[in-house]
Amino acid sequence: MNSIKSLIDTLYDTANLTDDQLLMILTEIKSTEDLQYLFDKAVSKKASHYKDAVYMRGLIEFTNYCKQNCNYCGIRGLNTTVDRYRLDKDMILSCCKEGYQLGYRTFVLQGGEDPYYTDARLVEIIKAIKIQHPDCAVTLSIGERSRESYVALKMAGVDRYLLRHETASKELYESLHPNMSFENRRECLYTLKALGYQVGAGFMVGLPNQTDEDLVKDLRFLKILSPEMIGIGPYIPHEHTPLKGAHGGTVEKTLILLALTRLLVPKALLPSTTAMGTLDPKGREKALKAGANVVMPNLSPTDVREKYELYKDKICTGDEAAHCRQCIEGRIKSAGFSVDMGRGDHANFKSEHSSKALFTIVE
Ligand code: SF4
Repeated sequence: MNSIKSLIDTLYDTANLTDDQLLMILTEIKSTEDLQYLFDKAVSKKASHYKDAVYMRGLIEFTNYCKQNCNYCGIRGLNTTVDRYRLDKDMILSCCKEGYQLGYRTFVLQGGEDPYYTDARLVEIIKAIKIQHPDCAVTLSIGERSRESYVALKMAGVDRYLLRHETASKELYESLHPNMSFENRRECLYTLKALGYQVGAGFMVGLPNQTDEDLVKDLRFLKILSPEMIGIGPYIPHEHTPLKGAHGGTVEKTLILLALTRLLVPKALLPSTTAMGTLDPKGREKALKAGANVVMPNLSPTDVREKYELYKDKICTGDEAAHCRQCIEGRIKSAGFSVDMGRGDHANFKSEHSSKALFTIVE
């Protein structure tokens, strides 16, 4: 057995390697045989916790306003070419209703950092969703907020929160995020964890000036934080951003990082991202075969889909929710997995768990 395979075996058995060993895999894994060995181990590890299930989440992109200006992002506040929109409570509820009828039991509400959505407005929306769909999980993905805000949203019934750390390299982070704080972003993640959310972190692959050493820092950060969800996608440049003309990431490298993440944080829920499908028609299936086990088909109204363009040529912007649901189901099955329309909580979480954790903290 070669040294790469034996490192993969150690990672499989112990869920850990040193930074140097991770770097060695990242820089030296090249042969089709070694890559397949890595992906098969990742799928086997996933199966030991989640069998062959792939969880479906209904994604609702409810605002493309954002006060931030991340240099890679198509809806950054300074991009004046964006046609901005917000969905009101009734529109969001109508997306949830359609999603519920299609079988979804998790709704992911995603948006830019939009101050219009005060805690009071969000709490009203969340409570309404929870009253209409008490058997569903609600995930928020709306960026950095105060601890008080995260407490209020948790009390309103939010189960999970996605906040990608984007990159664990301070220098790289600061070069990409004007007026944002590397430390604060991490602090937000630890706060969300302490409040009992199922927390999602994650990063982009192929950012300008990103090195393999930076990617090892991402893996190490994830191992330490041990989030319940981890979003990893290739960076795809957008023409109306300061980084236009950059090369971006590849599906191949992203698959390696997905598989390594699965082995380092074995129970994590890992999405097969739309960005993978944008770069490669089979990208989402390939991600499932490298250890991913979540997909997030779009439930947003079709007339706003194109306006939520985080990166160039994003796919699935014209398809009705029912079409997305069917399309993704076909892809999951063709990749050899089965669709699970349940809430799809993390293996360590029962649905009551998060509330208990919060009440312990606020008492
Ligand atoms: S990545 Fe998020 S916070 Fe940054 S500009 Fe885009 S929507 Fe706003």
